[in-house]
Amino acid sequence: MKIKNNPQRVSFKAGLTPTIKFRAAQYSAAGIERLFKKQGVNADFKNNRAIAYCCGIVNDIFETLTNKYKLPFGVKPPCLTVYHDWDLINYNNTGCLGFCLPDSEKIISGKGVYETRSIFYNNEKMKTLAEMDALAESQHRSGCNSTNHFLHTIIHEWVHNIHNDLLYRVFGYDGTCPKTLQRYNTFNGAYYDPNPYVSGIEHLKQMQSSRYTPQQMEIIKKEISEYAAGIRLRSDIIKGGNPFELIAEAITKEVVDVLDPDTLTVTRNPFYQAGKHDKKLADLVNNAWYNIAGG
Ligand SMILES: [Zn+2]
Repeated sequence: MKIKNNPQRVSFKAGLTPTIKFRAAQYSAAGIERLFKKQGVNADFKNNRAIAYCCGIVNDIFETLTNKYKLPFGVKPPCLTVYHDWDLINYNNTGCLGFCLPDSEKIISGKGVYETRSIFYNNEKMKTLAEMDALAESQHRSGCNSTNHFLHTIIHEWVHNIHNDLLYRVFGYDGTCPKTLQRYNTFNGAYYDPNPYVSGIEHLKQMQSSRYTPQQMEIIKKEISEYAAGIRLRSDIIKGGNPFELIAEAITKEVVDVLDPDTLTVTRNPFYQAGKHDKKLADLVNNAWYNIAGG
């Protein structure tokens, strides 16, 4: 996909530069939907040009990471959809900015089943690039997000999609979706230890329900974000703070750190500098990819 920004440098440095705003205005949501269609991605942006543009940019970023830097991030979500909070069926994520489906599910009223790894973005909270920029800024300032970049949420969900794909490829898929079964053959999984067999979905559930120790939380909070470490909403409810969210927040930060501020293109391999992070954090992130105990 060629979602390119004018490389002309501008002096104003922020997540959202005038160059980016200008370039974004050249694209329609329908135009970007057509570009995704050509790549086999079913996109429905409901005329939300800001989210459509950001998805196009993020798609290009992960393509570059895969093609140029040989990182295994080229996997595309099967569907990209924006939603209204009030249209969600039986989903406890109401109010969040986005989510990625671990298994195929009926999510939006009046619509069919969405395929495993589909990504959803909140149409009400992210109508313009300026709104996305302001949200990212305030969430970063409060310590919640690992970056203040307006692409933060778009990248974060994209990483969940990549992580889901990895889990199903390595551990197999144990759900009922025929399309997903076709893609990840549970019964031919050469990688997992079958005794006891733990499926990709089960690994995901384990990750989402596991919590970091206070010492681990301290490291993650300092180096990545409070959300990745775990935010206590009530004495019995913690948001985030699990390996699945740590991966999304850590990789989003690594990717944002290597983006050219004006062109939004990747300037270098985000993982080239081994040992730039705290060793304990690096171990936590590495373990989180495969749900290795202690991670
Ligand atoms: Zn997340």
